[in-house]
Amino acid sequence: MKEVFTELVDNDQLPHAMLIRSKQGGSGLALGLFLTQYLLCEQPADGNPCGVCPNCVKCQGMSHPDVHYVMPVNKNQKVKKVAVSENFLEEWRELVTESPFIELMDWYTAIGIENKQGFMGNDEITALRQKLSLRSFEGRQKVFIIWQADRMNQEFANKMLKSLEEPSNDTVFVLITENPDKLLPTVLSRVQIFAEEPLSAEELSIFLQQKFELPPPEATNIAFRSEGNISHAIKDMHHEGDQWLTDFRNFMRLAYMRDIKGLYQWSEKMAKNSRDAQRQFVKNALSIFDRCYRLGWVADHLPFEGEEQQFYERFSPFVNYSNIRGFMDDFEKAAYHIERNVNAKIVWFDTSINAIRLVHQGRKAAATPSTTTST
Ligand SMILES: [Zn+2]
Repeated sequence: MKEVFTELVDNDQLPHAMLIRSKQGGSGLALGLFLTQYLLCEQPADGNPCGVCPNCVKCQGMSHPDVHYVMPVNKNQKVKKVAVSENFLEEWRELVTESPFIELMDWYTAIGIENKQGFMGNDEITALRQKLSLRSFEGRQKVFIIWQADRMNQEFANKMLKSLEEPSNDTVFVLITENPDKLLPTVLSRVQIFAEEPLSAEELSIFLQQKFELPPPEATNIAFRSEGNISHAIKDMHHEGDQWLTDFRNFMRLAYMRDIKGLYQWSEKMAKNSRDAQRQFVKNALSIFDRCYRLGWVADHLPFEGEEQQFYERFSPFVNYSNIRGFMDDFEKAAYHIERNVNAKIVWFDTSINAIRLVHQGRKAAATPSTTTST
């Protein structure tokens, strides 16, 4: 994908409006930033920006006066009147320079609007059009990076359309979104679409080893857990070991042993975590169930190493056709209730009691040669 962009720039064929389709937390923003720097660099060589010219330095610091960022925003503690992206540049710079593989929720958390929706509206497009009318500072192109472009409202889209209809040579629009379908067809028809290529688990593992100097077994485990999603892999990495797997393993062990007292204590402890952490735990548990279920069909090849491999080897036979739906439903229900402030201790204890039944149901099904498994 990088090569596609550098070639377009080198041949002077870069479209003036592009859309990068990229999953939440994917490489879309990183690609957009790379393209911008390559385009503005004074001495690009071998398909890379030089990294040292003043334009490169400003791009890397996200402080280039000709690079404009538009993100979904909303009023918060600090910005009480008009919410436009330029009021949030400091937070944006801080978040993105740390890692460009971010999800919408990371951004909302960074600017304290987790409970609202961000959007791009009338004030935003007015500000954008004003910047469009200015000449570029450095005499090169002006770049507008519109991140999560599907969050633009009708007003924004209609006015933006005018700018797309009258392309100017010194302006490049880079829209990034997971959902191009949510954009107006008239906008879509004026942008050239590029799709991010998802990383395979192997590629992601290599990336983690190179970028973060992770030892190969750990990188491999994280890459498989996060199923090619860079953002999830990076978050996972920051956990001490795999905290969630340990919690999950304890939960299942206690359920298997029908240890009611242990499960009660486990529920008490889990309920003390923040709501966000509990949501993470559920998300993780759902993918563990899913993985165990799928491993049942291809058990000869376990993509994990070390302790995790042992866990999957032992536990995955207990997750099968007889209980997978039940586990999934129960954990989703738990997340739903916690989200709505139901007493978390009660929610988890309920889930535990059901888990005892489900895990033994799975054990029986695994032990009985069954004629119904051929689905
Ligand atoms: Zn440069």
